[in-house]
Amino acid sequence: MRLRFSLQLIIGAVLIQIAMVSVLVWNTTREIQNSHAQLLVGSAQQQSVLMTSALVPGLAYRDPVVLQEVLGLVAGERDLQYVVVTDAAGHRLAWVGTPPDILHHGDAPVEVVPGRVSINRDIELEGQRLGALHVAYATTYADALTEALGRRNVTLGMVVLFLSVLAAVTFALMVTGRLRRLKEGAQAIRAGNLGYRIPAGTNDEVGDVAHSLNALAAELDQSHSSLERQNLQLNRSVDRLETLLQGAEAIIWEADPQTGEWRFMSGDTHAILGIPASRMYDAQSRERLIHPTDLPHLREAWRTATAHPRPVDYRFRHGSGEWIWLRDIVSAATDSDKRPVLRGLTLDVTVHRKAEAALKQSEARYREVLDHISEVIFRTDGEGRWTMLNPAWTELTGFTVEESLGRPVSEFVLSEDKPCLEAFCAPVIQGHIPFDREEVRIVTRDGGARWVSIYARSSLDEHQQVSATFGTLVDITERKAAEEEIRRLAFYDNLTSLPNRSLLHDRLNQAMATAHRNKGHGAVLFIDLDNFKDINDTLGHEVGDDLLRQVARRMLRTMRQTDTLARLGGDEFVVVLNDLHPDPLRAATQAEALGRKLIGLLQEPFRLDKRERHCTPSIGVTLFGQENTTVDELLRQADLAMYRAKAAGRNTLSFFAPEMHRAAEERAALEADFRKALRDRDFFLHYQPYVDDQGQVRGAEALLRWQHPERGRVSPMEFIPVAEQTGLITELGHWVLESVCRELAAWAKNPDCAQLDLAVNVSAYQFRHPDFVRELTTVLEQTGAPPGKLVLELTESLLLDDTKAVIERMNTVRELGVSFALDDFGTGYSSLSYLKRLPLSKLKIDQSFVRDLLLDPNDAAIAEMIISLSKTLGLEVIAEGVETREQLDFLSVRGCRCFQGYLFGHPVPLADLEDLILTGRTGTDD
Ligand code: C2E
Ligand code: CA
Ligand code: CA
Repeated sequence: MRLRFSLQLIIGAVLIQIAMVSVLVWNTTREIQNSHAQLLVGSAQQQSVLMTSALVPGLAYRDPVVLQEVLGLVAGERDLQYVVVTDAAGHRLAWVGTPPDILHHGDAPVEVVPGRVSINRDIELEGQRLGALHVAYATTYADALTEALGRRNVTLGMVVLFLSVLAAVTFALMVTGRLRRLKEGAQAIRAGNLGYRIPAGTNDEVGDVAHSLNALAAELDQSHSSLERQNLQLNRSVDRLETLLQGAEAIIWEADPQTGEWRFMSGDTHAILGIPASRMYDAQSRERLIHPTDLPHLREAWRTATAHPRPVDYRFRHGSGEWIWLRDIVSAATDSDKRPVLRGLTLDVTVHRKAEAALKQSEARYREVLDHISEVIFRTDGEGRWTMLNPAWTELTGFTVEESLGRPVSEFVLSEDKPCLEAFCAPVIQGHIPFDREEVRIVTRDGGARWVSIYARSSLDEHQQVSATFGTLVDITERKAAEEEIRRLAFYDNLTSLPNRSLLHDRLNQAMATAHRNKGHGAVLFIDLDNFKDINDTLGHEVGDDLLRQVARRMLRTMRQTDTLARLGGDEFVVVLNDLHPDPLRAATQAEALGRKLIGLLQEPFRLDKRERHCTPSIGVTLFGQENTTVDELLRQADLAMYRAKAAGRNTLSFFAPEMHRAAEERAALEADFRKALRDRDFFLHYQPYVDDQGQVRGAEALLRWQHPERGRVSPMEFIPVAEQTGLITELGHWVLESVCRELAAWAKNPDCAQLDLAVNVSAYQFRHPDFVRELTTVLEQTGAPPGKLVLELTESLLLDDTKAVIERMNTVRELGVSFALDDFGTGYSSLSYLKRLPLSKLKIDQSFVRDLLLDPNDAAIAEMIISLSKTLGLEVIAEGVETREQLDFLSVRGCRCFQGYLFGHPVPLADLEDLILTGRTGTDD
């Protein structure tokens, strides 16, 4: 039976209280009784002592009255039962009260019996017993008092007991209350309410217990929540792993490397393999489901597993009976018990394998297309280098794909088409347009070219930047050839392959526009063969055709790239010349020169039908430039001029404009005379000296002279152009060079002249002639002239085109020891930057600046500039055409140290020059 602690406490306390109170009350009551009895006895003894003394006389005299009197003193006293005085014999002598009949004498002097205290005393006198006194007191009063006190004691005891029970109960309740709270707290903690805190109450042991419990709860709470957190994390990671495994459709396992038995696995085998996990643990039952072909390979993977996870794929029979592809990612490890284990992750890769296979298949198909398609399929990087080419590339170009990859596309494009490729590629590569198509020629390995149509498209990266281009190249060579053929048929003459009338119209239109724009001139030459009809009629059309072809070929040889030679039909040809001189007369000369050249060319006999035949042309020339005319009008003019040439006796040339016609006739006559003069050696040389600032002759310039029987003296200004146009300048120039060198060789032996230079004018045409250097070398060798004394005077016009080649040639000549002077400096348009690169020794200030030096400040400034420029470049400067002292002074003051001109000497025959050198005097020629 369970007794509540409070009840135990209360019962215990009550029982103890009862016992204590009872003992106390009993003891007090007894004490009170005892002290009352003693008090009674004491006072009875005192009374008896007093009475004894008082009774002695009465006894001694035996006087009962006296005795009675004495006794009377105490009679009436409370509680006195009796007093008896007896004599020595025991006879009652006096008494008061009601004594008993028998007095017990000699008994104890004090006798206490319930309800009475009796005293028996002997009364003596001088040792002689007189009698005895017997006194008895009733104890009634004392007993009543004792009883009252006892009752009060009990009442007090009861009150004390009640109070102490009350206190015990209160205390018990209080204690049990606090204990209950402890209990509730403990229960709450036990129930998991770790946040519960027991009110501590007073600072005592219970409070301590409460504190300890609270601390315990707090600690528990803390460790509980950390445990919970860990638990949560653990749960989460387990959850994650599980979700992952479910999502990934993976199984993870750990196996015994010896037996292959799975010790642990996680994952949904049902979902992945279609079988329960139980069938997987055992190695044998598992292996029965693995494709026999793959099993050895899988076992090998397990056997050789290392710490580094490795994948191995194999087929596995799914619960449905189908084969699926699994991939085990296996690694070897040791578990927490240090046992070796195999760990693995098994994945279903069927879809992946299928996709892979499909991809391979589609790649193969794509490869097949790529490898066998006739178009080139390409890809380039952002810099325009091949990054992919299919075999069609090799078929197209002969270059292998390997050697081509990484090289720029432009490397494979014909140089003429590179600008076109550039213009086409740039916008695609820069992403301005997404794609484009263009036709260019691709070079082939054997040095040929093929027309391709390029289609290119830009490919953008994630930043929308062009990262590459891709596209196709289609061989369109055949189509181009067909197109070309069509074009040729449309625009070219079938017989001679020259442009036909339509193309001529086009070209002429363009030429007119260009001349108009450039403020230049062009010319149309209408050429008709003089005796073609006869040849055609007598020898037949085939021979006629042959002649036309030969004529075309010959004429074509003299054409510049910019000129057009066309066949109008029959024996009519037309030449269009571009870029002629801005001055109409000079332009006419150029046109005429070509015309005459053609006449000269056709003069050579043709081989026709195994025989040599002559065929001459009649040429009509007209110029075009600033005036507005039409193509037809020009052709008509040229045609008209051609008829004039025919009328003039054929094999000649005629201009449409009368003044030009006259000039042309004049030139033609001059040319004829010139040729004759060359044959007859009608030329000779004069020499004009040049001097230093001391007036000392330093050398002389050789100047050609032509003495014509009718015309008289012809100026080199007139005949040199004729010589140049006819190409005869080389012959003439060679003669001049030879004469001068012979002179130099002679001078070398003459001490008066040995230190002098001789200058020769070399025209651009002559200098450019391929044989020039060779001939010069030969002349120097043959004559033995000292090269250091020979000066070649060149004009700036020489530098107008192919400057590089000219400079090279000048350097070669310079190496021979021959020096150069730049003639007529200031009149040409040579760029100053070239001057530095030319191996020059002298600049000759053109005489036009010297002439007006004192009149025109511009000329003065130019002359001055040339002097300072030549100083800067370290070149000698010669002023030409110095006629007056003033001009000389002006030039001297500016720093010019060398002069040529009538002031010092006219061009004179050699003998006169030598005379002058010796005498210091000038002869006269001009
Ligand atoms: P150039 O080379 O400038 O020759 C100087 C010309 O100025 C010469 O004319 C000469 O007689 C003339 N002259 C010299 N001093 C004076 C002067 O004080 N006042 C004036 N007004 N004229 C003076 P020329 O002899 O009539 O020669 C004309 C041009 O013909 C030469 O000009 C030269 O370019 C060319 N030439 C002459 N001989 C030859 C030659 O053998 N071969 C080549 N290719 N051209 C030559
Ligand atoms: Ca000259
Ligand atoms: Ca000159």
